[in-house]
Amino acid sequence: MNTRILSASAEHIQEVGVLLRNGELVAVPTETVYGLAANALDGAAVSRIFEAKGRPQDNPLIVHIDMLDTLSMLSADVPDTAYTLAQAFWPGPLTIIVPKSDRVPTEVSAGLQTVAVRMPSHPIAREIIRAAGVPLAAPSANLSGSPSPTTAARVAADMDGRIAAIVDGGACEVGVESTVITLVGERPRLLRPGGITKEQLEAVIGAIDVDPAVIEPLANDREAASPGMKYQHYAPRADVTLIDADAAQFAAFVNAQAGDGAMALCFDDETDGVAIPFLTYGARADEDAQARRVFEALREADDRGATRLFAACPRAEGVGLAVYNRLLRAAAFKVVRL
Ligand code: AMP
Ligand code: MG
Repeated sequence: MNTRILSASAEHIQEVGVLLRNGELVAVPTETVYGLAANALDGAAVSRIFEAKGRPQDNPLIVHIDMLDTLSMLSADVPDTAYTLAQAFWPGPLTIIVPKSDRVPTEVSAGLQTVAVRMPSHPIAREIIRAAGVPLAAPSANLSGSPSPTTAARVAADMDGRIAAIVDGGACEVGVESTVITLVGERPRLLRPGGITKEQLEAVIGAIDVDPAVIEPLANDREAASPGMKYQHYAPRADVTLIDADAAQFAAFVNAQAGDGAMALCFDDETDGVAIPFLTYGARADEDAQARRVFEALREADDRGATRLFAACPRAEGVGLAVYNRLLRAAAFKVVRL
């Protein structure tokens, strides 16, 4: 298949709408990361997403909508809290899990009785949903397991030849995937941290639970509340280790690892003592910048031939919790605490 890379002209958006309605796959920019979209109401189209990504069949997809009304088509039983959250955070990087309706094909929910829904804020994503005239199921547009793509070029590196088109909307603003919260269960529970923080959610709906899988490996005997959490994820080819340390300790540790493809992933403001090849991913106190940079930095480490990547550990608060969660998975939970 010849994958076309398209600008977001009005003409291209209409063309992409037709492709999607016809069951084709198109990569679409959103404010979080690039998504690999298909018509969410067409089970056969959705199953092509799993093929193109090599995604495990039991990992459900997020449905992207452009109007609040669509939520009641996807769910027969929308809890009031969903509307409260939608009012506060949509359009934006928050995914809400609710009981699913019969309109949602089992391919989307991967057999679960629930559906994950989000209204993105990216103007191009919204135009594409409108042009398609159907809700769009869209996971991140990377090969399963790889770091999520935040530019069209990174999507092409993974998806060229596998999908009909990629719409180039430039670099993504948030840089990590949406926050996922489930409203199915006794208390709202955070399943995946993202651009909307736990603190922001609690300011609107009160105390929420945080799934243990956010910062711990899933125990063997536990079922994943969010199936995506059980897979190794976001990993570059390089072997990643997180280093929880101050600037001086970090430099001393990575310098002792010199050679054999060792590379450091540093904070912008803490590169002074680092004597091995390094990349940076935002200042220590700037979690938003870290989120924007983290996936691109992991891919750059591969481009530069790193085989062992030692990453400075972010603060696990605010948006930093999302960055920490992604790096923990990239590192398969290997953390050195100094
Ligand atoms: P991605 O689309 O690649 O950002 O991944 C979507 C994430 O949302 C994965 O971690 C999924 O496991 C999770 N997810 C999607 N739908 C559901 C659902 N119905 N219940 C629980 N988790 C879900
Ligand atoms: Mg993903």
